Amino acid sequence: MTSYDVIIVGTGAAGLFCALNLPECLSVAMLCKEGLCDNDSFLAQGGISTLRTPDDYEPFYEDTMKAGHFENDPDAVSEMINASTRIIKDLLDAGVDFEKTDKGFSYTREGAHSHNRIMYHGDSTGKEITSKLLETAKTRRNIQMFPYMSMIDIIHKANACNGVVVSDKSGFHALFSKAVVWATGGVGGLFRNSTNFEHLTGDAVVLSLIHNIKLRDVSYIQIHPTTLYTPKEGRKFLISESLRGEGAILLDLRGNRFVNELLPRDVLSLKIAEQMKSDNSEYIYLSAEKIDKNELLRHFPYICKHCEEQGFDLTKVPIPVAPAQHYFMGGVLADLQGQTSMRNLYAVGETACNGVHGKNRLASNSLLEALVFAKNAAHRLSAKLENFEKTEVDLSVYGGDFLKKHRHLFTSQINPNEALFL
Ligand SMILES: Cc1cc2nc3c(=O)[nH]c(=O)nc-3n(C[C@H](O)[C@H](O)[C@H](O)COP(=O)(O)OP(=O)(O)OC[C@H]3O[C@@H](n4cnc5c(N)ncnc54)[C@H](O)[C@@H]3O)c2cc1C
Repeated sequence: MTSYDVIIVGTGAAGLFCALNLPECLSVAMLCKEGLCDNDSFLAQGGISTLRTPDDYEPFYEDTMKAGHFENDPDAVSEMINASTRIIKDLLDAGVDFEKTDKGFSYTREGAHSHNRIMYHGDSTGKEITSKLLETAKTRRNIQMFPYMSMIDIIHKANACNGVVVSDKSGFHALFSKAVVWATGGVGGLFRNSTNFEHLTGDAVVLSLIHNIKLRDVSYIQIHPTTLYTPKEGRKFLISESLRGEGAILLDLRGNRFVNELLPRDVLSLKIAEQMKSDNSEYIYLSAEKIDKNELLRHFPYICKHCEEQGFDLTKVPIPVAPAQHYFMGGVLADLQGQTSMRNLYAVGETACNGVHGKNRLASNSLLEALVFAKNAAHRLSAKLENFEKTEVDLSVYGGDFLKKHRHLFTSQINPNEALFL
């Protein structure tokens, strides 16, 4: 039988940062459905918001609340903003490289931000952050990683979670632990048009429904206003909001500007949908003509390259864009330390909902939120596990509910008399 102190499901920014903030005396298993880099954290383009100066606290708070239609949890928003400078320091310590000017760090802006407060690395900020976290996690001897392993269920008794049931190419296995952290990302895989990886199908939400774990705001789905239009199936390519922040404009089919490009995402997506309807078209255009060509190529190399591969020279011609599903504001109800309604079960990152985003997420707040609350969860877990009693348990008793029923499924050897931490 295999057991760990902590099992973290998901190797995106939230899962990795949680693992890295756990003490190295704890054994940690991290698993993910596909490869270690196949997650939305690697796709983040625009950047990560931060409290640039103390004066910006009020405007940052107000922008976040306004974007969220004031349905945000005020404590969660304060916590996120106040923790942001510490998080940026952690990232710099991990070797993350943010864009600089002669005067210091460079800050960009996206829709509904009243100030430039977003730190970035070209247009591949998520890759820069997450790859550095992954590199560090790979050096930790207490962390074991299992790519291509899917959680298909949890093991629980009396509303306490003690592990997960997983499947991989060799079959089904039960992994036990003192605590489980869900960092399983969003729900984009359920949509025809989404910017998310297709394997992100809201599995933690499904398991919550099955096991009566509380959910919150599951209808709060964010549609991103601008993805490169293609009639082809599959993941849609995001055209970052920071392009609009730097001066790109939106045009109808006749080439007329029809909207303020920096409206909050939900409002802008609706305006674009209305325009597409009135033009009887599946897209509108985004023109980056107003941005200096060198700046465009320097700040957005990844987007320019992708557009070129699809036959569009962003420096010269407007590109067709359309809205697509992008982010899940709702999710598994969690407090500010990631605790769900089931004991020993934590949820962090896009999977979790602590109310920080309200009804609509402010751009570039999700990497920040994922890191802040993943770190909080790690601290709560460390404190709890320190006092955790190591108890020998007869697994066949525990298995009365679950293992006996599913025993025929498991390919790995489960010895019912082995010691188990519960
Ligand atoms: C194109 C794009 C651009 C973005 N740009 C920005 C940006 O500029 N700034 C910003 O703040 N945010 C941005 N976001 C949002 C942000 O990237 C995500 O919200 C955030 O990275 C989510 O991190 P996460 O760790 O919660 O989930 P993810 O990084 O998506 O990781 C989820 C992990 O869970 C695993 N998993 C899922 N289900 C299972 C299962 N059943 N069993 C095992 N493993 C499972 C996956 O394999 C994966 O490893 C962007 C998102 C996209 C898609």
